Amino acid sequence: MKKYDIAVVGAGPVGSTFARYVADNGLNVVMVEKKREIGIPLQCAGLLGQKIKEINVLPDEYVLNQVRGAYIHSPSNNMMKVGKENVQAYVIDRVGYDKYLANLAVDSGAELLMNHKVIHSDLNGCIETKETKIQADIIVGADGHSSTLSNNFNEKPRSFMAAQYLIETDIPVFDLENVHLHVDDLISPGFLWTIPLTSSTARIGLFADMNYTELNNVLAKLMATEPMFKNARIIQKYQGYIPKYDPKKKIVDEKTILLGDAASQVKPTTGGGLLIGFECAKIAAECATKAVEMEDISYLKEYENQISKRFRNELRVQIEVQKIFESMNNQDLDEMFTKLKQGNAEELISKYGDMDTQSTLIKEMIKNGLLFSIVPKLLTRRIMGLWK
Ligand SMILES: Cc1cc2nc3c(=O)[nH]c(=O)nc-3n(C[C@H](O)[C@H](O)[C@H](O)COP(=O)(O)OP(=O)(O)OC[C@H]3O[C@@H](n4cnc5c(N)ncnc54)[C@H](O)[C@@H]3O)c2cc1C
Repeated sequence: MKKYDIAVVGAGPVGSTFARYVADNGLNVVMVEKKREIGIPLQCAGLLGQKIKEINVLPDEYVLNQVRGAYIHSPSNNMMKVGKENVQAYVIDRVGYDKYLANLAVDSGAELLMNHKVIHSDLNGCIETKETKIQADIIVGADGHSSTLSNNFNEKPRSFMAAQYLIETDIPVFDLENVHLHVDDLISPGFLWTIPLTSSTARIGLFADMNYTELNNVLAKLMATEPMFKNARIIQKYQGYIPKYDPKKKIVDEKTILLGDAASQVKPTTGGGLLIGFECAKIAAECATKAVEMEDISYLKEYENQISKRFRNELRVQIEVQKIFESMNNQDLDEMFTKLKQGNAEELISKYGDMDTQSTLIKEMIKNGLLFSIVPKLLTRRIMGLWK
């Protein structure tokens, strides 16, 4: 049986980032990945908030486009335009980026076992693939939304299903600087996205509590009704799962910790998991390094505490926002858009909005009374209570 300080199950972007950090700290680490090729198939819209540059490395060669704002469409196509002067988000080559992050971890000294599916794990630091057995001081479950390791101490996780197309048009129709987001009660709390890669190619997709056929029907309807998709061709279809954020999920048990999608570390409103996953990877690496160096796994509990301290409030606000959207039918959504536009929300969202952190904007909407005008008083009070 091979022995390591740390074994990471899953060489996705979050697992690889964690492995790089602990390898840089001088620990003996192995990544165990079931795929033959990192990052394939693509399961991402690849939209990362500009804070990514502070949170992780992102070389320019993986940036396909830079976005400054968004057109947000109501069900009856009432539209709000929000944005800023400077770049708000990067559209990335996610497959290339995943490979890059895994290579960085290897360059830092992590061992990578490809084509090794973990079929058994226990809480004492032992994992098994068909080919090998590994013993480690700490096991990190970075094995995605249906994590095998999570099953050792959590109930089966719940996820949204997502579908996405890469589409191409004959003539340039896409505004490169803006994404389009569509809301509709059929897919709430999910939404539809159109993310331009070039002026004639885009990723269009959605996540919702639906099956794959239903998701495809929604995309087909969007393509048939939106003028910019007239004569667009589907180049490729993708599908995937987005974990439902679960505040009660246990992310540490004995020698095991969960990270990234496996820990349901996703933003409830956007389904985005990369930025939050990378931040969690950094915190996890610091705690895991201490635990190995001090030969005391009680330091792993620090990971849980620090994550909770860092994200609890923001995620609670986002859950409330998600609940508001879930409770609204299309008429409510349309009325909300009208009120928001009347209340000058485009300016407010442009000033305080951030795709990864919504609590700042919500606070401002409470301050100027706009939130009271669009959601019942009871809900507003509950949201205000989150800051007490
Ligand atoms: C359609 C779609 C669009 C999205 N768009 C965005 C977006 O625009 N921005 C954003 O921030 N997030 C987005 N996300 C979410 C984002 O893709 C995830 O949050 C991110 O991939 C999580 O990274 P991870 O490393 O935790 O897990 P994953 O990327 O899922 O990696 C897990 C790895 O573990 C491996 N693995 C699984 N089981 C085993 C096993 N038993 N043994 C060995 N290896 C195993 C897998 O092969 C995989 O390589 C999107 C998701 C979907 C589905």
